[in-house]
Amino acid sequence: MKRTKIKELLQHGKTGEEVLVKGWVRTFRSNRFIHINDGSSITNFQAVVDFEKHDENQLKRITTGACVALQGKLVESLGKGQSLELAVDNFEILGDSDPNTYPLQPKKHSLEFLRSIAHLRPRTNTFGAILRVRHALAFAIHKYFNEKGFFYLHTPIITGSDCEGAGEMFRVTTLDLNNIPKNDDGSINYGDDFFGRETNLTVSGQLEGELGAMAISDIYTFGPTFRAENSNTPRHLAEFWMIEPEMAFYDLKDNMDLAEDFLKYLIRYALNNCLDDLEFLSARQKEEEQSKPQDQRSMELIEKLKFILENDFQRLTYTEAIEILENSKPNKKGQFQFPINGFGTDLQSEHERYLVEKHFKRPVILVDYPKEIKAFYMKQNPDGKTVRAMDILFPAIGEIVGGSQREEDYSKLVTRIKELGLRESDFSWYLDTRKFGSAPHSGFGLGFERMVQFVTGMANIRDVIPFPRTPKNAEY
Ligand code: ATP
Ligand code: MN
Repeated sequence: MKRTKIKELLQHGKTGEEVLVKGWVRTFRSNRFIHINDGSSITNFQAVVDFEKHDENQLKRITTGACVALQGKLVESLGKGQSLELAVDNFEILGDSDPNTYPLQPKKHSLEFLRSIAHLRPRTNTFGAILRVRHALAFAIHKYFNEKGFFYLHTPIITGSDCEGAGEMFRVTTLDLNNIPKNDDGSINYGDDFFGRETNLTVSGQLEGELGAMAISDIYTFGPTFRAENSNTPRHLAEFWMIEPEMAFYDLKDNMDLAEDFLKYLIRYALNNCLDDLEFLSARQKEEEQSKPQDQRSMELIEKLKFILENDFQRLTYTEAIEILENSKPNKKGQFQFPINGFGTDLQSEHERYLVEKHFKRPVILVDYPKEIKAFYMKQNPDGKTVRAMDILFPAIGEIVGGSQREEDYSKLVTRIKELGLRESDFSWYLDTRKFGSAPHSGFGLGFERMVQFVTGMANIRDVIPFPRTPKNAEY
């Protein structure tokens, strides 16, 4: 007999229908009620066994965590919350689970504890919901760009361009670390390494993405990204996924319009396709925040997501933002950990969140940052001080998107590369796009996990990726 997924049963099951379901036991109560879950939906499915009809030793094997196959008829349920249940005729234990050592008991576990058993946490309601929302968002990203005529470009994960985030990259090598080949001057001889040169894991697919945009107009990347920055924060991972669209003929305004539309599309997609999971996560967040004082609690999750859809993002310049921050209460009272020091201050998460949560009370797009605190490839403004950068700031998260219009002028770009002490020869391939048929173009990067965090309301980024990589932690 063919197995039916629980989601399918809940949607289309009919009384009297003979079905086979398989899944993991959440609870078995009164030697009668089995709640199982197969991950297809947040809802556990109730099955009922008549203990007089089955062997006692077999019944004993139905324990929390065990994997079972249940066969029987769908009947009307008297229990609340479910219209149908399964009257079990036969069952089979596919995998036993010792209730004395199974780490997931049918009670609430802390997120910290669950992180320590990341191999089993997908079996909890919370992580099941997060994984389904994460999938839905990933799917929606491809759907959005495909509908807009963008092409999915696969940029390299191992990169030979060592010039983007110097010091923050993970090295890729097959050299014997106990016996590193050296040049006469004592430096490492990468000529002997696998690629015959120094290579690293990518920190961004943007530079290669630009090469694609300068040929097929609209591309996006969606792949793993690595940063060896030692930031132990609830918003940083050493391995995360990034979406980076890059568009020929887009200026900064087009770029902002696309990013805002894209973020709203993803949120709308989640509301339309994951409402049961979001309702569960909303209740979870409410419970989690019960101990917090009223004014520190977040907006209800679904209300918050709808609020984003209904409001335009506030757009302003970096300079205007600095003025607001300088005159803000927390700055004057010395409550910011990093005080605002006029034009040139690099904004920290506390500043970004002040603007979004306290001042404007909606997402904010900041543009025209000082060139000193932004990357070399951003288009220089005529004022000689700022570049056409845009950061999108979200409540609870801070920066969720970073992007810019790119400098398309060959000589301005070369001058900037030299000013920053970078080697022109490292960028010869990149500069070629400005030499041969250059065009205005723009793009941005969305951190996928920060988006999943926002949509699920999870406070820590380690809880929205199946197997987080952070400093001193790379299990599994
Ligand atoms: P932050 O200042 O928050 O460290 P960034 O300025 O380094 O971010 P970008 O280099 O602009 O970020 O990267 C683009 C996007 O990638 C960011 O807006 C963010 O959403 C995401 N991102 C950056 N670093 C990380 C990280 N370590 N873990 C998860 N997401 C990240
Ligand atoms: Mn960073």
